[in-house]
Amino acid sequence: MSKLLEIRNLSAAYGQIEVIHGLNLEVNQGEIVALIGSNGAGKSTLLRTISGLMRPTAGEVIFQGKCINDLKTNEIVKSGLIHVPEGRAILKRMTIEDNLLTGAVFRSKKEIQEDLEEAFRLFPILKERRKQLAGTLSGGQQQMLAIARGLMARPSLLMLDEPSLGLAPLVIKDIFRLIQELKTKGITILIVEQNARQTLRISDRAYVLETGHIALSGNSGELLKNDVILKAYLGEN
Ligand code: ATP
Repeated sequence: MSKLLEIRNLSAAYGQIEVIHGLNLEVNQGEIVALIGSNGAGKSTLLRTISGLMRPTAGEVIFQGKCINDLKTNEIVKSGLIHVPEGRAILKRMTIEDNLLTGAVFRSKKEIQEDLEEAFRLFPILKERRKQLAGTLSGGQQQMLAIARGLMARPSLLMLDEPSLGLAPLVIKDIFRLIQELKTKGITILIVEQNARQTLRISDRAYVLETGHIALSGNSGELLKNDVILKAYLGEN
């Protein structure tokens, strides 16, 4: 399996306070990799550091074999690494279609049109409501829009930060099903979640993050079978 993303000895800080401490992680082409752990463990900070929103204080982010530490965020997006942040960050006063178009960068009109069609195929509800303001969508639909906008940039690696946050169980099921469908389309996924059990069910491998370092990692199926681990690290009974 070829490595798509490799994190080497990465540290990150807010001012003087280091919150990621020399972390190592990798994502292979075609995998769904989960990053789980409790509140404040540093999951969102790690994604921000990978996508260039924050600069690491030490270590390297290697994407497609190249160190991207010094690239600008738009260059990172152009290289195919897309971050769908926590809280979705959709533009509520713009229409659904315009939100999607903001995700389409660096391509011809024809390609953008094709991608829009594909987004509407994956998310029929967005097609139905494409002329409406994004703020009128339900929470689950807004999350779908955020993911669809990420797809408009034709990612090779899609990083999703807590896509299930605040959603009803049935909607979470839909989102997770969709994430599995993206994998079959050849998109590699790094997903941050607090919803550990469900995330382990759809991922190939997982890392458990604890106060800025990896507490353990392994095959998701095996982690899911290990009650001791689920209790100790994921606070489950
Ligand atoms: P959550 O699910 O709550 O977002 P997380 O695992 O994603 O948790 P982070 O948000 O990355 O964790 O936070 C890691 C640590 O960094 C926490 O101690 C948090 O208080 C701190 N932190 C996060 N954002 C900032 C910020 N903008 N300024 C200062 N400290 C921050």
